[in-house]
Amino acid sequence: MDNKRIIIAIDGHSSCGKSTFAKAIAARLGYIFIDTGAMYRAVTLYALEHGAIAMGIVDEERIEAMLGDIEISFRFNSERGASDIYVNGDLVEGKIRTIEVSNCVSAVSSIGAVRRKLVAMQQQMGRNGGVVMDGRDIGTVVFPTAELKIYMTADPMVRAERRYKELTAKGDSVTLEEVYENVVSRDKADMSRAISPLRKADDAIVLDNSAMSVEEQMAWFDEQYRRVIGA
Ligand code: C5P
Repeated sequence: MDNKRIIIAIDGHSSCGKSTFAKAIAARLGYIFIDTGAMYRAVTLYALEHGAIAMGIVDEERIEAMLGDIEISFRFNSERGASDIYVNGDLVEGKIRTIEVSNCVSAVSSIGAVRRKLVAMQQQMGRNGGVVMDGRDIGTVVFPTAELKIYMTADPMVRAERRYKELTAKGDSVTLEEVYENVVSRDKADMSRAISPLRKADDAIVLDNSAMSVEEQMAWFDEQYRRVIGA
């Protein structure tokens, strides 16, 4: 395909396979893949481990005060074909996707100072193009001029079932109801927060993958990509 290296912004609801899709696109195009949800999860994990979240109550002031102590970095893991996330040099990839982190992350991501720090990092990482970035505000706030914007969604129960399978396969003891509750409440929190709420950018194209395989999604993507690069 063409060698113009564009920015591809993928936003959408929780657990609809954004990262799987974004990772496959990045591999196909030889682009960098950046999972911005992992960055919000990493800050949430740090806050949990350092007492700024207790019994589900998020202490915004303490989190804001600790932001200077949190250094986030990514390192490519060739086995996974994606980058692992580190906090202050510690690998946290395996610890950020628990239900505990999932239940607190929307509250942490609604803090203005957290968003300012992470958005600045994301803009820096994607500034040269050749990047696929997934999150909630990529096409609206982080890269409003991205050449290709995709807004992903799927039926909430389909999403909960997919996430439930992933978590139980890893040995996490969760119930489908718990996962469904989390998916629905994160959608609600992410769409109704005051700063950078999840919404479809006017120029984003919608992909509802409720009944689509990864191969079908990739075929759909190829069409959109060709259209954008004019091939
Ligand atoms: O993508 P993932 O589900 O891992 O994201 C976890 C949470 O991080 C989301 O529910 C949302 O609250 C927050 N997030 C965000 N902005 C982004 C990416 C994620 O607010 N760009």
